[in-house]
Amino acid sequence: MQLKQLPEDFKKALPILKSIEQAGFQAYFVGGSVRDHILGLPIHDVDIATSAYPEEIKSIFKHTVDTGIKHGTVTVLVNDDSYEITTFRTESGYQDYRRPDKVTFVRSLTDDLKRRDFTINALAVDHKGNVVDNFDGLTDLRNKLIKAVGVAEERFHEDALRMMRAVRFQAQLDFKIEEKTKAAIKDNSTLLEKIAIERIHEEFLKMLYGHSWKKGLTNFVELGLSQHCPGFENKQKELTKLINDENILFTDEEMAWTALGYVLSLYDDDFNHFMRQWKVSNKVREDCLATERMLLDFQTGNFDIWNIYTNGVDNFSRVISLCGLFGIEIDQTEIEKTISEIPIKSSHDMKITGKDVIDILAIKPGPQIGQYMTALEKAVVEGQVVNSFKELKRYLLKM
Ligand code: ATP
Ligand code: MG
Repeated sequence: MQLKQLPEDFKKALPILKSIEQAGFQAYFVGGSVRDHILGLPIHDVDIATSAYPEEIKSIFKHTVDTGIKHGTVTVLVNDDSYEITTFRTESGYQDYRRPDKVTFVRSLTDDLKRRDFTINALAVDHKGNVVDNFDGLTDLRNKLIKAVGVAEERFHEDALRMMRAVRFQAQLDFKIEEKTKAAIKDNSTLLEKIAIERIHEEFLKMLYGHSWKKGLTNFVELGLSQHCPGFENKQKELTKLINDENILFTDEEMAWTALGYVLSLYDDDFNHFMRQWKVSNKVREDCLATERMLLDFQTGNFDIWNIYTNGVDNFSRVISLCGLFGIEIDQTEIEKTISEIPIKSSHDMKITGKDVIDILAIKPGPQIGQYMTALEKAVVEGQVVNSFKELKRYLLKM
């Protein structure tokens, strides 16, 4: 097959392919960008594979960065764009089920395509738009199938993360996992325990962000992958609570982890521990704890404006979506109105300071100043006092 027209992103990168070819080497567009273009999806990063060795690439281009030179990847900078150029390679060893003991640079594109995970990811395109398709990836794209390149079982033994990648591509592309590939995941799901949580985390989130996340998650559970992830052991029933008729999309990490905490009935310290196991960042963890608290308040009809304010108004829109997912009924318009009426955004907007409190009450500095300040802030948020120095002073003297 030849592409009728190269996508703009490829056209822009053509001078790079040409420079490599003029130096006597081969160069192709490969991986996700080829797959996504053929599917009519937007392309995010253009990856280039080449027969030139990293040192050879570095001698062709003026501005390069050694991104992953051991694995054959050099980043080339042209104008304002950067491209990852990776030498054709084969991998061998894989004694630990996660990374090859040995990476060998080769001059053959076919050998490079063989080491790729799925047939739809093993397509290459040359500068004229000719598609190299050694593993019937085009047929699988047409039939919407995720199929391992070669023997699935072996491929998952080489790198167990590929099993997670299968469910994540299913969720992103709304494809089916081909039967043998699926069976191999089921038989080898235990191997996921060999994989660093950071890598699982990345694929797991990409899965949840996918439009068809429910299909990905269904297989994640049914094929046994969830059993080998922290906090999900024997929680198949809880996890599938996420899968209902509500059509929501996970728009960020906070929303995803909060939804998980909620279905797993993990609160406060337990929820925090769960997120720590998944190596969720501090900032995200804090937001998730606040979001879950708000969700629970909404569920019990127990929320108040101070709660929303202290838990972060930014977390509120996530809570709305999650209420939708979990069938928690709330009066969104009413709540939004209440939020829009909060007179301050943060304590920085208060028209009184801790020093003022010390002066007005003629007391010594100490922890009680903070308590007074919080009480004043709460009174402003709840509309009991106007945020002006005069009113706040009067209120403080009556406290
Ligand atoms: P995305 O749209 O998320 O970038 P992608 O297919 O480009 O999807 P990447 O993780 O960027 O995925 O990897 C680029 C390419 O490298 C893949 O298309 C695939 O050919 C190959 N690849 C990536 N990870 C693996 C792996 N674990 N095993 C085998 N091949 C892989
Ligand atoms: Mg990619």
